[in-house]
Amino acid sequence: MAVKRYDGYRSFAYLGEAERRLELADEEAISQRVTLTPEQRRRLEGIVDLGLVISLRDHGFVLPAHQGEILDYCRQPRTAYAYRGLALSGVDVLFDSFMDSLAFFSSGRQVTWHDLLTNLGMRYCDLAHQDTVVVARGLEDFWRAKRSRQVAVVPCLEMPDPIEGDLDRLDVLYGFGIRCMGLTYNHANAFGGGCADPVDQGLTALGRQAVRRLNRLGIAIDLAHCGEKTSLQAIEASEQPVLMSHVGARRLWDVPRLKSDAVLKACAEAGGVVGIMAAPFTTQVTGQPHTIEAVMAHFEYVANLVGIEHVALGPDTLFGDHVALQRVFDAHLGLSATHEVPKSGFSGVLGMENPREAMQNALAWLVSHGYSDQEIAGVAGANVIRALRRIWLEIQPSENRAIESSENPLL
Ligand SMILES: [Zn+2]
Repeated sequence: MAVKRYDGYRSFAYLGEAERRLELADEEAISQRVTLTPEQRRRLEGIVDLGLVISLRDHGFVLPAHQGEILDYCRQPRTAYAYRGLALSGVDVLFDSFMDSLAFFSSGRQVTWHDLLTNLGMRYCDLAHQDTVVVARGLEDFWRAKRSRQVAVVPCLEMPDPIEGDLDRLDVLYGFGIRCMGLTYNHANAFGGGCADPVDQGLTALGRQAVRRLNRLGIAIDLAHCGEKTSLQAIEASEQPVLMSHVGARRLWDVPRLKSDAVLKACAEAGGVVGIMAAPFTTQVTGQPHTIEAVMAHFEYVANLVGIEHVALGPDTLFGDHVALQRVFDAHLGLSATHEVPKSGFSGVLGMENPREAMQNALAWLVSHGYSDQEIAGVAGANVIRALRRIWLEIQPSENRAIESSENPLL
Protein backbone atom coordinates (compact mmCIF):
# COMPACT_ATOMS: atom_id res chain seq x y z
CA MET A 1 0.00 0.00 0.00
CA ALA A 2 1.18 3.50 -0.77
CA VAL A 3 3.87 5.00 1.47
CA LYS A 4 3.20 8.62 2.36
CA ARG A 5 5.72 11.41 2.34
CA TYR A 6 7.83 11.76 5.47
CA ASP A 7 10.69 14.22 5.98
CA GLY A 8 12.12 12.87 9.23
CA TYR A 9 10.23 15.21 11.59
CA ARG A 10 9.75 14.07 15.19
CA SER A 11 7.05 15.57 17.41
CA PHE A 12 8.04 18.96 18.86
CA ALA A 13 11.45 18.87 17.17
CA TYR A 14 10.91 22.60 16.50
CA LEU A 15 11.81 23.19 20.16
CA GLY A 16 15.39 22.20 19.36
CA GLU A 17 17.80 19.62 20.66
CA ALA A 18 17.61 20.92 24.23
CA GLU A 19 14.18 19.30 24.59
CA ARG A 20 14.41 16.09 26.59
CA ARG A 21 13.98 13.05 24.38
CA LEU A 22 12.09 10.22 26.01
CA GLU A 23 12.65 6.77 24.59
CA LEU A 24 9.49 6.00 22.64
CA ALA A 25 7.88 2.85 21.30
CA ASP A 26 8.88 1.60 17.85
CA GLU A 27 6.59 3.15 15.21
CA GLU A 28 7.50 0.53 12.64
CA ALA A 29 6.71 -2.57 14.71
CA ILE A 30 4.73 -5.28 12.96
CA SER A 31 3.44 -8.19 15.05
CA GLN A 32 2.24 -10.28 12.12
CA ARG A 33 1.75 -9.84 8.38
CA VAL A 34 -1.27 -11.36 6.64
CA THR A 35 0.33 -13.14 3.71
CA LEU A 36 -1.07 -12.77 0.21
CA THR A 37 -0.03 -14.30 -3.09
CA PRO A 38 1.56 -11.83 -5.54
CA GLU A 39 -1.72 -11.81 -7.48
CA GLN A 40 -3.78 -11.11 -4.33
CA ARG A 41 -1.31 -8.35 -3.40
CA ARG A 42 -1.74 -6.72 -6.82
CA ARG A 43 -5.51 -6.95 -6.41
CA LEU A 44 -5.38 -5.18 -3.03
CA GLU A 45 -3.07 -2.49 -4.41
CA GLY A 46 -5.54 -1.89 -7.25
CA ILE A 47 -8.44 -1.48 -4.84
CA VAL A 48 -6.69 0.94 -2.49
CA ASP A 49 -5.16 2.96 -5.34
CA LEU A 50 -8.61 3.81 -6.66
CA GLY A 51 -10.36 4.47 -3.37
CA LEU A 52 -9.66 5.68 0.16
CA VAL A 53 -8.44 3.69 3.13
CA ILE A 54 -10.27 5.15 6.14
CA SER A 55 -9.70 4.10 9.74
CA LEU A 56 -12.77 5.19 11.72
CA ARG A 57 -10.63 5.12 14.87
CA ASP A 58 -6.94 4.78 15.48
CA HIS A 59 -4.44 6.91 17.32
CA GLY A 60 -1.28 8.51 15.97
CA PHE A 61 -0.27 8.65 19.65
CA VAL A 62 3.07 7.04 20.60
CA LEU A 63 3.66 5.64 24.09
CA PRO A 64 6.98 5.68 25.95
CA ALA A 65 9.01 2.49 25.53
CA HIS A 66 8.97 1.92 29.31
CA GLN A 67 5.75 1.25 31.21
CA GLY A 68 6.84 3.17 34.32
CA GLU A 69 6.86 6.42 32.32
CA ILE A 70 3.35 6.15 30.88
CA LEU A 71 1.39 7.99 33.57
CA ASP A 72 3.62 11.08 33.77
CA TYR A 73 3.87 11.18 29.98
CA CYS A 74 0.08 11.16 29.50
CA ARG A 75 -0.50 13.80 32.15
CA GLN A 76 1.24 16.49 30.08
CA PRO A 77 0.16 17.71 26.64
CA ARG A 78 3.35 17.16 24.58
CA THR A 79 2.83 13.55 23.54
CA ALA A 80 4.46 12.23 20.37
CA TYR A 81 2.63 11.56 17.12
CA ALA A 82 3.81 8.72 14.88
CA TYR A 83 4.43 10.53 11.61
CA ARG A 84 6.79 7.84 10.37
CA GLY A 85 4.53 5.00 11.46
CA LEU A 86 1.49 6.60 9.82
CA ALA A 87 3.44 7.22 6.61
CA LEU A 88 3.95 3.45 6.42
CA SER A 89 0.42 2.47 7.51
CA GLY A 90 -1.39 2.57 4.17
CA VAL A 91 -4.09 4.71 5.85
CA ASP A 92 -5.37 7.69 3.85
CA VAL A 93 -7.81 9.04 6.45
CA LEU A 94 -7.56 8.64 10.22
CA PHE A 95 -10.32 9.49 12.70
CA ASP A 96 -8.33 10.36 15.82
CA SER A 97 -9.55 11.69 19.18
CA PHE A 98 -5.98 12.70 20.10
CA MET A 99 -6.35 10.68 23.33
CA ASP A 100 -8.76 13.35 24.64
CA SER A 101 -10.18 10.95 27.22
CA LEU A 102 -6.80 10.95 29.01
CA ALA A 103 -6.20 14.69 28.74
CA PHE A 104 -6.92 15.48 32.38
CA PHE A 105 -3.90 17.72 32.76
CA SER A 106 -5.25 20.08 35.41
CA SER A 107 -7.07 17.60 37.64
CA GLY A 108 -6.75 13.91 38.40
CA ARG A 109 -9.74 12.56 36.47
CA GLN A 110 -11.85 15.15 34.67
CA VAL A 111 -11.03 16.61 31.26
CA THR A 112 -11.86 20.31 31.62
CA TRP A 113 -12.65 22.71 28.77
CA HIS A 114 -9.21 24.21 29.27
CA ASP A 115 -7.56 20.77 29.12
CA LEU A 116 -9.43 19.93 25.95
CA LEU A 117 -8.37 23.10 24.14
CA THR A 118 -4.80 22.68 25.40
CA ASN A 119 -4.72 19.14 24.03
CA LEU A 120 -6.14 20.20 20.66
CA GLY A 121 -4.00 23.29 20.31
CA MET A 122 -0.79 21.50 21.24
CA ARG A 123 -1.48 18.73 18.72
CA TYR A 124 -2.33 21.25 15.98
CA CYS A 125 0.89 23.12 16.76
CA ASP A 126 2.91 19.94 16.33
CA LEU A 127 1.01 19.05 13.15
CA ALA A 128 1.73 22.50 11.73
CA HIS A 129 5.47 21.78 11.81
CA GLN A 130 5.45 18.70 9.58
CA ASP A 131 4.36 17.51 6.19
CA THR A 132 3.00 13.94 6.56
CA VAL A 133 -0.36 14.60 8.24
CA VAL A 134 -2.95 17.24 7.35
CA VAL A 135 -6.13 18.09 9.25
CA ALA A 136 -9.27 17.38 7.23
CA ARG A 137 -12.21 19.77 7.42
CA GLY A 138 -14.29 18.00 4.77
CA LEU A 139 -14.33 15.27 2.14
CA GLU A 140 -12.34 17.27 -0.41
CA ASP A 141 -9.41 17.21 2.00
CA PHE A 142 -9.38 13.40 1.95
CA TRP A 143 -8.73 13.31 -1.77
CA ARG A 144 -6.35 16.25 -1.70
CA ALA A 145 -4.28 14.46 0.97
CA LYS A 146 -4.28 11.23 -1.00
CA ARG A 147 -3.09 12.98 -4.14
CA SER A 148 -0.31 14.67 -2.12
CA ARG A 149 0.77 11.39 -0.48
CA GLN A 150 -0.33 12.66 2.93
CA VAL A 151 -2.55 11.28 5.70
CA ALA A 152 -5.76 13.24 6.41
CA VAL A 153 -6.67 13.29 10.11
CA VAL A 154 -10.26 13.90 11.20
CA PRO A 155 -10.27 15.42 14.72
CA CYS A 156 -12.75 13.61 16.99
CA LEU A 157 -13.83 13.74 20.63
CA GLU A 158 -14.81 10.74 22.72
CA MET A 159 -17.35 12.78 24.70
CA PRO A 160 -18.79 16.30 25.02
CA ASP A 161 -18.45 16.54 28.82
CA PRO A 162 -15.94 19.44 28.70
CA ILE A 163 -18.57 21.72 27.13
CA GLU A 164 -20.22 21.72 30.59
CA GLY A 165 -23.75 21.88 29.21
CA ASP A 166 -23.10 24.94 27.02
CA LEU A 167 -24.25 23.85 23.56
CA ASP A 168 -22.64 26.88 21.92
CA ARG A 169 -19.32 25.27 22.77
CA LEU A 170 -20.21 22.60 20.18
CA ASP A 171 -20.06 25.39 17.59
CA VAL A 172 -16.72 26.43 19.05
CA LEU A 173 -15.44 22.87 18.74
CA TYR A 174 -16.61 22.72 15.13
CA GLY A 175 -14.63 25.91 14.64
CA PHE A 176 -11.63 24.16 16.17
CA GLY A 177 -11.98 21.35 13.64
CA ILE A 178 -13.95 18.65 15.49
CA ARG A 179 -15.99 16.61 12.99
CA CYS A 180 -17.00 13.54 15.03
CA MET A 181 -18.08 13.31 18.67
CA GLY A 182 -19.33 10.76 21.20
CA LEU A 183 -22.29 11.59 23.42
CA THR A 184 -21.10 9.69 26.49
CA TYR A 185 -17.80 8.03 27.35
CA ASN A 186 -18.52 4.82 29.32
CA HIS A 187 -20.30 6.64 32.15
CA ALA A 188 -23.48 8.69 32.29
CA ASN A 189 -23.19 12.42 31.84
CA ALA A 190 -25.59 15.31 31.25
CA PHE A 191 -26.37 13.96 27.77
CA GLY A 192 -27.13 10.27 28.32
CA GLY A 193 -26.06 6.89 29.67
CA GLY A 194 -22.73 5.16 29.15
CA CYS A 195 -21.97 1.53 28.37
CA ALA A 196 -20.38 0.97 31.79
CA ASP A 197 -23.51 2.03 33.71
CA PRO A 198 -25.60 -0.79 35.21
CA VAL A 199 -28.72 1.18 34.24
CA ASP A 200 -28.83 3.43 31.18
CA GLN A 201 -31.18 6.36 31.79
CA GLY A 202 -31.37 7.07 28.06
CA LEU A 203 -30.83 10.28 26.13
CA THR A 204 -31.54 13.30 28.35
CA ALA A 205 -33.34 16.47 27.26
CA LEU A 206 -29.94 18.15 26.93
CA GLY A 207 -28.73 15.11 25.00
CA ARG A 208 -31.55 15.59 22.49
CA GLN A 209 -30.62 19.23 22.07
CA ALA A 210 -26.99 18.22 21.56
CA VAL A 211 -27.99 15.70 18.88
CA ARG A 212 -29.95 18.42 17.10
CA ARG A 213 -27.06 20.89 17.30
CA LEU A 214 -24.52 18.30 16.11
CA ASN A 215 -26.82 17.52 13.18
CA ARG A 216 -27.09 21.18 12.25
CA LEU A 217 -23.34 21.74 12.58
CA GLY A 218 -22.43 18.66 10.56
CA ILE A 219 -20.53 16.86 13.31
CA ALA A 220 -20.84 13.07 13.17
CA ILE A 221 -22.44 11.54 16.27
CA ASP A 222 -20.44 8.55 17.54
CA LEU A 223 -22.22 6.06 19.82
CA ALA A 224 -19.19 3.82 20.44
CA HIS A 225 -19.13 4.28 24.22
CA CYS A 226 -22.87 4.91 24.82
CA GLY A 227 -25.26 2.60 26.65
CA GLU A 228 -27.95 0.52 24.92
CA LYS A 229 -30.93 2.80 25.52
CA THR A 230 -29.00 5.99 24.81
CA SER A 231 -27.70 4.49 21.55
CA LEU A 232 -31.18 3.51 20.34
CA GLN A 233 -32.69 6.86 21.32
CA ALA A 234 -29.88 8.85 19.73
CA ILE A 235 -30.25 6.93 16.45
CA GLU A 236 -33.98 7.70 16.58
CA ALA A 237 -33.44 11.36 17.45
CA SER A 238 -30.73 12.06 14.88
CA GLU A 239 -31.81 13.51 11.54
CA GLN A 240 -28.68 12.05 9.97
CA PRO A 241 -26.95 8.68 10.10
CA VAL A 242 -24.73 8.05 13.11
CA LEU A 243 -21.42 6.27 13.48
CA MET A 244 -20.30 3.61 15.91
CA SER A 245 -16.66 4.16 15.14
CA HIS A 246 -15.00 1.44 17.22
CA VAL A 247 -17.21 -1.41 18.46
CA GLY A 248 -17.86 -5.13 18.09
CA ALA A 249 -20.70 -7.63 18.50
CA ARG A 250 -21.89 -8.41 22.02
CA ARG A 251 -23.41 -11.60 20.65
CA LEU A 252 -19.87 -12.95 20.17
CA TRP A 253 -18.32 -11.53 23.33
CA ASP A 254 -20.70 -10.44 26.04
CA VAL A 255 -19.20 -7.28 27.53
CA PRO A 256 -21.01 -3.93 27.88
CA ARG A 257 -18.53 -2.13 25.60
CA LEU A 258 -19.73 -4.11 22.56
CA LYS A 259 -23.08 -3.62 20.81
CA SER A 260 -26.27 -5.67 20.82
CA ASP A 261 -27.83 -6.88 17.58
CA ALA A 262 -30.65 -4.36 18.08
CA VAL A 263 -28.26 -1.40 18.24
CA LEU A 264 -26.14 -2.61 15.32
CA LYS A 265 -29.25 -3.06 13.16
CA ALA A 266 -30.76 0.28 14.14
CA CYS A 267 -27.52 2.08 13.26
CA ALA A 268 -27.39 0.45 9.82
CA GLU A 269 -31.09 0.94 9.09
CA ALA A 270 -30.63 4.66 9.67
CA GLY A 271 -27.79 4.74 7.13
CA GLY A 272 -24.99 4.61 9.69
CA VAL A 273 -21.68 2.79 9.72
CA VAL A 274 -20.25 0.34 12.25
CA GLY A 275 -16.45 0.35 12.65
CA ILE A 276 -15.00 -2.91 13.97
CA MET A 277 -12.39 -2.46 16.68
CA ALA A 278 -9.28 -4.39 17.72
CA ALA A 279 -8.27 -2.83 21.05
CA PRO A 280 -7.09 -5.45 23.54
CA PHE A 281 -9.86 -7.27 25.48
CA THR A 282 -12.71 -6.00 23.31
CA THR A 283 -13.53 -8.01 20.17
CA GLN A 284 -12.73 -11.44 21.53
CA VAL A 285 -14.35 -14.77 20.68
CA THR A 286 -14.91 -17.52 23.22
CA GLY A 287 -12.20 -20.16 23.12
CA GLN A 288 -9.85 -18.22 20.84
CA PRO A 289 -6.91 -15.93 21.55
CA HIS A 290 -7.59 -12.26 20.77
CA THR A 291 -5.92 -11.96 17.36
CA ILE A 292 -6.89 -10.62 13.95
CA GLU A 293 -8.95 -13.80 13.47
CA ALA A 294 -11.18 -12.94 16.42
CA VAL A 295 -11.49 -9.32 15.29
CA MET A 296 -12.53 -10.43 11.81
CA ALA A 297 -15.05 -12.86 13.32
CA HIS A 298 -16.76 -9.76 14.73
CA PHE A 299 -16.47 -8.13 11.32
CA GLU A 300 -18.14 -11.08 9.59
CA TYR A 301 -20.86 -11.35 12.20
CA VAL A 302 -21.79 -7.66 11.90
CA ALA A 303 -21.55 -7.71 8.09
CA ASN A 304 -23.93 -10.67 7.95
CA LEU A 305 -26.29 -9.02 10.43
CA VAL A 306 -26.55 -5.50 8.99
CA GLY A 307 -25.12 -5.70 5.46
CA ILE A 308 -21.47 -5.22 4.56
CA GLU A 309 -22.23 -1.80 3.07
CA HIS A 310 -22.69 -0.53 6.64
CA VAL A 311 -19.44 -1.89 8.03
CA ALA A 312 -15.99 -0.31 8.23
CA LEU A 313 -12.87 -0.70 10.35
CA GLY A 314 -12.04 1.33 13.47
CA PRO A 315 -9.23 -0.68 15.04
CA ASP A 316 -8.62 1.80 17.91
CA THR A 317 -4.94 0.97 18.12
CA LEU A 318 -1.95 3.13 19.01
CA PHE A 319 1.84 2.91 18.86
CA GLY A 320 3.33 1.09 21.83
CA ASP A 321 2.12 -1.24 24.57
CA HIS A 322 -1.65 -0.74 24.55
CA VAL A 323 -2.18 -3.31 27.29
CA ALA A 324 0.23 -1.48 29.60
CA LEU A 325 -1.67 1.77 28.94
CA GLN A 326 -4.98 0.09 29.78
CA ARG A 327 -3.59 -1.27 33.05
CA VAL A 328 -2.24 2.14 34.04
CA PHE A 329 -5.52 3.96 33.37
CA ASP A 330 -8.15 1.37 34.23
CA ALA A 331 -8.42 2.56 37.79
CA HIS A 332 -8.73 6.21 36.69
CA LEU A 333 -11.46 5.68 34.09
CA GLY A 334 -13.29 2.65 35.47
CA LEU A 335 -12.81 0.87 32.14
CA SER A 336 -12.54 -2.49 33.84
CA ALA A 337 -16.33 -2.40 34.07
CA THR A 338 -16.60 -2.46 30.26
CA HIS A 339 -14.06 -5.15 29.44
CA GLU A 340 -11.80 -7.56 31.31
CA VAL A 341 -8.10 -6.78 31.62
CA PRO A 342 -6.11 -9.61 33.23
CA LYS A 343 -3.18 -8.65 35.43
CA SER A 344 -0.69 -10.47 33.19
CA GLY A 345 -0.29 -12.96 30.37
CA PHE A 346 -1.38 -10.89 27.38
CA SER A 347 0.79 -8.70 25.19
CA GLY A 348 -1.34 -7.57 22.25
CA VAL A 349 -3.75 -8.40 19.43
CA LEU A 350 -1.56 -10.30 16.97
CA GLY A 351 -1.88 -8.78 13.50
CA MET A 352 -3.74 -5.67 14.74
CA GLU A 353 -1.49 -4.24 17.41
CA ASN A 354 -0.90 -0.77 16.03
CA PRO A 355 -1.94 1.56 13.19
CA ARG A 356 1.20 0.60 11.23
CA GLU A 357 -0.30 -2.83 10.54
CA ALA A 358 -3.99 -2.86 11.51
CA MET A 359 -5.73 -1.55 8.38
CA GLN A 360 -3.32 -3.22 5.95
CA ASN A 361 -3.72 -6.59 7.60
CA ALA A 362 -7.51 -6.35 7.91
CA LEU A 363 -7.89 -5.44 4.22
CA ALA A 364 -5.46 -8.21 3.24
CA TRP A 365 -7.54 -10.60 5.34
CA LEU A 366 -10.63 -9.63 3.31
CA VAL A 367 -8.76 -10.25 0.05
CA SER A 368 -7.71 -13.70 1.25
CA HIS A 369 -11.20 -14.61 2.46
CA GLY A 370 -13.19 -14.30 -0.74
CA TYR A 371 -14.60 -10.78 -0.52
CA SER A 372 -15.21 -8.97 -3.81
CA ASP A 373 -13.34 -5.85 -4.90
CA GLN A 374 -16.51 -3.79 -4.38
CA GLU A 375 -17.02 -5.14 -0.88
CA ILE A 376 -13.41 -4.47 0.11
CA ALA A 377 -13.48 -0.95 -1.37
CA GLY A 378 -16.64 -0.31 0.64
CA VAL A 379 -15.17 -1.52 3.93
CA ALA A 380 -11.88 0.28 3.25
CA GLY A 381 -13.55 3.67 2.86
CA ALA A 382 -16.51 4.02 0.49
CA ASN A 383 -19.07 3.02 3.14
CA VAL A 384 -17.85 5.79 5.42
CA ILE A 385 -17.80 8.35 2.57
CA ARG A 386 -21.43 7.54 1.74
CA ALA A 387 -22.52 8.24 5.32
CA LEU A 388 -20.29 11.30 5.74
CA ARG A 389 -21.69 12.94 2.65
CA ARG A 390 -25.00 13.14 4.51
CA ILE A 391 -23.64 13.72 8.02
CA TRP A 392 -21.25 16.49 7.03
CA LEU A 393 -23.94 18.07 4.86
CA GLU A 394 -21.72 17.68 1.77
CA ILE A 395 -24.41 16.70 -0.68
CA GLN A 396 -23.47 19.16 -3.40
CA PRO A 397 -21.51 17.88 -6.41
CA SER A 398 -17.80 18.13 -5.81
CA GLU A 399 -14.72 18.06 -7.97
CA ASN A 400 -14.24 14.50 -6.80
CA ARG A 401 -17.75 13.31 -7.50
CA ALA A 402 -16.48 11.61 -10.64
CA ILE A 403 -13.69 9.89 -8.77
CA GLU A 404 -16.13 8.75 -6.10
CA SER A 405 -18.64 7.31 -8.55
CA SER A 406 -18.66 6.80 -12.28
CA GLU A 407 -14.91 6.92 -12.94
CA ASN A 408 -14.23 4.42 -10.21
CA PRO A 409 -15.38 0.96 -11.30
CA LEU A 410 -15.28 -0.27 -7.73
CA LEU A 411 -17.78 2.14 -6.20
ZN1 LIG B 1 -12.95 4.95 22.46
